[in-house]
Amino acid sequence: MATNTFSYWERTAFIDNADVIIIGSGLVGLSAALHLKTNAPALNILVLERGFLPTGASTKNAGFACFGTVSEQIAYLEKSSEAEVLRMVDYKWRGLQRLRQNLGDKNIDFQQHGGYELFMNNEQEAAQKAEGQLTYFNTLLQQAIGKTDIYSVADAKIADFGLKNVSHAIYNPYEGQIHTGKMMRTLLNKVYNLGVMVLNGCEIEKIESGGEHVYLSTSQGNFKTGKVILATNAFANQLFPELKVIPGRGQVLVTKPVDGLKLKGTYHFNEGYYYFRNIDNRVLFGGGRNLDYAAEETWDFGHTDTVKNKLELYLKEMILPGQDFEIDYWWSGIMGFGEELSPIVKQVEPSIFCAVRCNGMGVAMGSLVGEEVAELVIKDI
Ligand SMILES: Cc1cc2nc3c(=O)[nH]c(=O)nc-3n(C[C@H](O)[C@H](O)[C@H](O)COP(=O)(O)OP(=O)(O)OC[C@H]3O[C@@H](n4cnc5c(N)ncnc54)[C@H](O)[C@@H]3O)c2cc1C
Repeated sequence: MATNTFSYWERTAFIDNADVIIIGSGLVGLSAALHLKTNAPALNILVLERGFLPTGASTKNAGFACFGTVSEQIAYLEKSSEAEVLRMVDYKWRGLQRLRQNLGDKNIDFQQHGGYELFMNNEQEAAQKAEGQLTYFNTLLQQAIGKTDIYSVADAKIADFGLKNVSHAIYNPYEGQIHTGKMMRTLLNKVYNLGVMVLNGCEIEKIESGGEHVYLSTSQGNFKTGKVILATNAFANQLFPELKVIPGRGQVLVTKPVDGLKLKGTYHFNEGYYYFRNIDNRVLFGGGRNLDYAAEETWDFGHTDTVKNKLELYLKEMILPGQDFEIDYWWSGIMGFGEELSPIVKQVEPSIFCAVRCNGMGVAMGSLVGEEVAELVIKDI
């Protein structure tokens, strides 16, 4: 830990005057800050973030505004109940509406071009299974989305997109895409304007509650506060080992602009393990965590040849067949997974709360997850 050299002025204005400290400046942490400051404006809120930018998933995802493909719904129904499938879709759908309401469609470049689930030539059985369930899911999910035409067969569109080795497609007009960087920038500006302080480059190493206060040991020195919200998602059990959150890395690429790009929308295949979309005439493509779960169960950012080679192969043979392309960006982000799909939002110790484990669905759920934990804190004050 760094030697504590804070001045009197620093300590009284920055370090020890927060009623609530939020650890992690991702979508969940900042959504909690927004909700707290909007509903309890007198509270002094400090967000501490170890990265130069938020450094987990919120600025590293693919910018999909989605609530699930038919195959994902089928897989979840096989291990849970109909009511639970509906509850999760409802949560994601409401979360997306809240994100758009909070930040504004223009500010986050929200575009509703719809989403497609694709099936390869060798996935006839999976395609038939999914297509056989369209009416069922359209009826079930109407209760959440308020529409009956959520999923429909779109095989005829495959040729328009220039895809190869794909024989079936299911279209969902209610899915969209956003600019993830603009989302986080808008959210940061919004909380700054409300008076929330966000300090970067500050890693929390230890949290101890004692009496009226919670004490944080950090890479920058010791902090004291009234309440703490842990919003560190994939990294949650670095501070609270009992929290059941397993990290999962997602590797992503973006090509250079592609002449005459035919893609428009978000696309998933292989049960959602692969995903791609258009962005500024480029292709964003990510996934492949299922190629080697053990290697991707990591807190380390980075790439593996296994995933990189597979993504490049799909790009060449399936997504942009016969077209010249160059890859401009590679990055990775770390998600937080668990056995259950629901996030963990609860009190972990007196005056310490957590909102973690968005299961790779935090763009959709994160705004509500942040709100929920903020409400727990408000009730405890
Ligand atoms: C490749 C990829 C694709 C995705 N696709 C989708 C999708 O299609 N749909 C969807 O809804 N979601 C998707 N997600 C998931 C979504 O991005 C996450 O669920 C969401 O961003 C989680 O937000 P968060 O605030 O909980 O976590 P994060 O954004 O990870 O924020 C946690 C923050 O805590 C900080 N932190 C950690 N430990 C400490 C510490 N000790 N001290 C201080 N700070 C700390 C980290 O630096 C980080 O900034 C995807 C994610 C990735 C990576």
